Amino acid sequence: MADYKHILLAVDLHENFDDDVVTQAVKLAKEHAAKITIVHVLEHLTAYGIAQAYPGAFEIEESIRNEATETIQSLIDKHAIKDVDVIIEPGSPKMLIIDKAKELNADLIVLGSHGRHGLSLLLGSTANAVLHHAPCDVLAVRVKEK
Ligand code: AMP
Repeated sequence: MADYKHILLAVDLHENFDDDVVTQAVKLAKEHAAKITIVHVLEHLTAYGIAQAYPGAFEIEESIRNEATETIQSLIDKHAIKDVDVIIEPGSPKMLIIDKAKELNADLIVLGSHGRHGLSLLLGSTANAVLHHAPCDVLAVRVKEK
């Protein structure tokens, strides 16, 4: 197995979010003494660039971002993650996960096999796209039906 130095952990933070994804990333990071970067993509904010005319759009973005920051901090605390950076950016999850993996030179991406779109497909759309285009190894942690 490769010796991982930098793990990109993608979290969607939706209500059925599976903690196993974080658990696996943390376990591997410990085994490999790797750094973790947690990435969360604010996927419904892509239109806000053209929504500048709408009053309150920036406040909404700010409040969604703050909520994500708090949730991620509680994950960091719960799993006692030591060497960690956090990226929260608007965009398309699959594209941003791949772009950040390239930019950071990550050698492993850890994500859930399924997320908010449920278990209807063999592999969720984000995991599928990331697997096809990733510049590095990808671990799709099997998300169980709840
Ligand atoms: P999905 O394609 O929705 O089934 O999601 C599968 C996995 O992709 C999730 O478990 C996450 O690891 C990752 N993912 C999906 N959406 C996002 C997002 N907005 N930000 C970060 N990771 C995501």
